[in-house]
Amino acid sequence: MSTFTIRVFGDPVLKTRAREVDNIDGKVAKLAESMIETMYAAPGVGLAATQVGVDKRLFVYDAGDGPTTIVNPAITESSGEWEFEEGCLSVPDLHWPIIRPKEVHLTGVDLDGNPVSLDADEFLARVFQHEVDHLDGILLVERLDEDLRKDAMRTLRQRALDWHG
Ligand code: ZN
Repeated sequence: MSTFTIRVFGDPVLKTRAREVDNIDGKVAKLAESMIETMYAAPGVGLAATQVGVDKRLFVYDAGDGPTTIVNPAITESSGEWEFEEGCLSVPDLHWPIIRPKEVHLTGVDLDGNPVSLDADEFLARVFQHEVDHLDGILLVERLDEDLRKDAMRTLRQRALDWHG
């Protein structure tokens, strides 16, 4: 069992759109296993492959019902509005109130290649939207409204200076 290093804000891989998984083989299963370990070690409730530098469309999550892997996920429907104080393992120690749809429908496939079709609301819907965003190269700061986004970018730039001198 191995864990990955989680890529953080500033790493260009977080801005790339991950490629569809054509073939769900043992390698993909192993990748998902290591991603789940990494997510628990962080600890976090969701982790997308791009966050560990892997160019594949899959994410793992555990919102309290055990670890689950979704391959080639897509949000096919969304409705309502819900505000939630959202954070991200790739933007450590920061969180912001973000409004997103309250309910979503997620499709994809599981590690056995079986279709997945899930309705989610509130917290789970938030996890799904956040992880699918990662696979599209979108970070949560891009979901902030104008003013909050400016503040967030200032904080992140300052932090990069503090880290790298
Ligand atoms: Zn994240």
